[in-house]
Amino acid sequence: MSTYIKVLLYFFSIGILGVSCNVLPDAKKVSPTEQLADSTFDNHSYANIHEVYTKHVHLDLDVNFENKTIYGVARHEIVNRGTDTAIFDIKHLEIQKVTLGRGNEKETSYMIGKWDKDSILGQPLLISIKPGTKYINIYYETTEKTEAIDWLAPNLTEGKDLPFMYTQGQAILTRTWIPIQDSPTNRLTYSADVHVPEEMMAIMSASNPTKKAVDGKYHFEMKQPIPCYLIALASGNIEYRSLGNNCGVYAEPKVLGKAANELVDLPRMMRAAEGLYGPYKWDQYDVLVLPYSFPFGGMENPRLTFLSPTVIAGDRSLVSVVAHELAHSWSGNLVTNASWEDFWLNEGFTVYFENRIMEELFGKDVADILALIEFAELQDELKTIAKSKYPQDAQLKLELRGRNPDDGMTDIAYVKGAFFLKTLEEKVGREKFDVFLSSYFTNHAFKTITTSQFEDYLNGHLFDLHDLTFNTKEWIYGKGLPSNCLKIYSPRLENMKQLAKRFSRGEKIFAKKVIWKKIKGRKRRKKEILQLKRTDHITQEWQTFIRSLPSTVNAEQLAEIDQYLNFSNWGNAEVQYEWFIRTIQANYETVKPSIARFLTRIGRRKYVLPIYEELAKTTENKQWASELFQSIKAEYHPITRMSIEEVLSANN
Ligand SMILES: [Zn+2]
Repeated sequence: MSTYIKVLLYFFSIGILGVSCNVLPDAKKVSPTEQLADSTFDNHSYANIHEVYTKHVHLDLDVNFENKTIYGVARHEIVNRGTDTAIFDIKHLEIQKVTLGRGNEKETSYMIGKWDKDSILGQPLLISIKPGTKYINIYYETTEKTEAIDWLAPNLTEGKDLPFMYTQGQAILTRTWIPIQDSPTNRLTYSADVHVPEEMMAIMSASNPTKKAVDGKYHFEMKQPIPCYLIALASGNIEYRSLGNNCGVYAEPKVLGKAANELVDLPRMMRAAEGLYGPYKWDQYDVLVLPYSFPFGGMENPRLTFLSPTVIAGDRSLVSVVAHELAHSWSGNLVTNASWEDFWLNEGFTVYFENRIMEELFGKDVADILALIEFAELQDELKTIAKSKYPQDAQLKLELRGRNPDDGMTDIAYVKGAFFLKTLEEKVGREKFDVFLSSYFTNHAFKTITTSQFEDYLNGHLFDLHDLTFNTKEWIYGKGLPSNCLKIYSPRLENMKQLAKRFSRGEKIFAKKVIWKKIKGRKRRKKEILQLKRTDHITQEWQTFIRSLPSTVNAEQLAEIDQYLNFSNWGNAEVQYEWFIRTIQANYETVKPSIARFLTRIGRRKYVLPIYEELAKTTENKQWASELFQSIKAEYHPITRMSIEEVLSANN
């Protein structure tokens, strides 16, 4: 029995919540069961997309910053394979009415089903349709519980004069701001007419304006079919700057110059990516730098990557995040995971591809350092998962029925996925592997794919072709890391490990050294004074240094490091969050104000959550963290806020 049938039985047997005047005439008529036996069916959507699906949605949206509400109409152009009920996903939405037709709209009956047990999926919206129905119009408004939208008061922006809002659809939050069939299995095109206050700009994952409209009205078109988690909207005091032919950056005016400078390599990145796996298929590629509450490093909304301002470090040291989001234009956006259990097909490919772009731009040396940093994180993640309630989360192919798909967003999908592909590359040779990957992207462009379809393609187009065998099943369905996993060695990172060891043994690594340097053509040597500086090494080398400090390193020693390298106030969040964790472990109390500032300013979950987790380990620190969190929690994105609440409310 598929989940879908279970769901239907569930709310038909228990009774239906919803609007009393709108009841479907005959519940028994709902959907012929034989059409539902489809292996690609999605455990995280109620939609009956195998019977009826949206091919285009037009959105009429009025964005009201005062009420923090979007008043909308979602106009679905559908393909109906003969059912009399169309099922959509909704969560925390107010449905006002549903009509059928275009131009001459007629109201139709609908009902809203029960919530799922853990309130992860939301509710099914069942709409009565006719065999000839082509258009379904759902009139709705968002509510204060809508999780996809972050409404920011002016004080949370750089400019401090106007509010800001943006949406985040992945994984299953699009249903909280648009009534939709919220499964990546279906692809659709979209258009939108959006009205925002006059002084604001609105931009979407679609064709975008480069100047503010005088009346606050904007029209958008996304002509390439996308999974609906990639529909995105942002509005605020935003300006645009071009960075080249078909790429540029959007940001608040105060940040725009710095952002453009940080992202100056974008055109080169695009050329490198196209050189590897074929032409960019989305016409334009822009980046929107968001305010600090954005919970992720980046989100690959097509044509318009959403980027955390933490990436704008001032020294271009964290731009691999941009390479990652750009790579998604192929893996994820062009070829999409069919369900969230196949998430590694999006992320593993993207991390692999990101690393190849970084290698093209900055050389193998740097690409290896980046890969090794991630590999160390994967090893920690594997240990954590092995001890957890769900050891099967260490598999590439996930089992997430009844769980939040966000549970699958771990280093397994990202880094184990990438190392699977790296190991494959090593086995078959780069040339053959690149031919395979190019054909994979070409043959699956604008399609979705399951893990088992990928396995078939791999066998047919790589292994059979070159008469090879490989432990694919162990990689995809095994819980550990197979023994043939590619090994990377980086002399530069080894050097940092040694440096940490020497320091912990008491060696004065910051002492000034005098050397006499030979100058060409001169008899006398030149005196030079050397002292270890932060600029001697890149971000990832310092991360390795911090990670390699043994647990015996005490607060006094950490203070000595801070005296010379000032990690506590660097402004590079990637190093700072790991540094702060070490300072908490060593009771290096003087850093607390810096930690508080960091947690108040930054909203990226990857950085703040581990700090809260570390603080929650002792009663005193937990108390301090809880008080701080209470005073600033309104400033976090709901995704970040919920994760922290979970940590602080757990008994330990
Ligand atoms: Zn990604």
